[in-house]
Amino acid sequence: MSTTPPLVRMRGVTKEYPGPVSALRGVDVDVDRGELLAVTGPSGSGKSTLLHILGTLDRPTSGSVTIAGHDIATLPDRSLSALRARHIGFVFQAFHLVPGAGALDNVCEGLRYSGLPHRRRRALAEAALRRVGLGDRMDHRPHELSGGQKQRVAVARAVAANPDLLLADEPTGALDTASGNAVLDLLLELNAGGTTIAVITHDREVADRLPRRLHIRDGRVVEDVPCTTTPAGAR
Ligand code: ADP
Repeated sequence: MSTTPPLVRMRGVTKEYPGPVSALRGVDVDVDRGELLAVTGPSGSGKSTLLHILGTLDRPTSGSVTIAGHDIATLPDRSLSALRARHIGFVFQAFHLVPGAGALDNVCEGLRYSGLPHRRRRALAEAALRRVGLGDRMDHRPHELSGGQKQRVAVARAVAANPDLLLADEPTGALDTASGNAVLDLLLELNAGGTTIAVITHDREVADRLPRRLHIRDGRVVEDVPCTTTPAGAR
């Protein structure tokens, strides 16, 4: 049996918003290093809330969350930001690229809080863009890129610092099927290279391509389908 602790451990996590709204009602989830999982569920079921808590962008109302061995409840905000910069990358449906900046500058921007010197950040950003197949688009600004390419820049930005955990919120939601599949292929490839990835999606076809599926309803995990077969390219 493996003795390696999970990368993420959530126990009894709840989240209450003013209203009051119980967005999460006692979630227990472990994510091991090297996993690739889909988080699915109807709109309003708590997926984004879960992702925000996983990403340390928000704290739970109760329960415990440990990421890479750090208990996030006890970390002051400053240490939490450092943990996030060092261990977690984010990809969003709407890309969130800086409009006037080229692809390379956009990826460098994601390394701003890494504490690395400028030259090292540039080298990492270039390597990340090559990794996502955009080595020939370094200077293209977002409006000069297709939707799929924009999302690949966003993925490059998220993985440039080699995070332990990549969190993607509907990464294919704004893309046509072919571009969406290409982005998914890229995530599978990054996972094959060792990156742990959680993907929020309401798209059944996307979820079906991922080895583990966590289904949420009304703030609770109602299904956790582990990897039974290894999809081609996933490992
Ligand atoms: P999903 O991502 O599955 O659509 P969310 O996590 O965004 O679900 O939302 C879960 C529930 O929490 C919903 O009922 C939503 O309206 C509520 N909610 C989300 N964010 C807030 C907030 N900042 N303030 C109040 N209620 C919120």
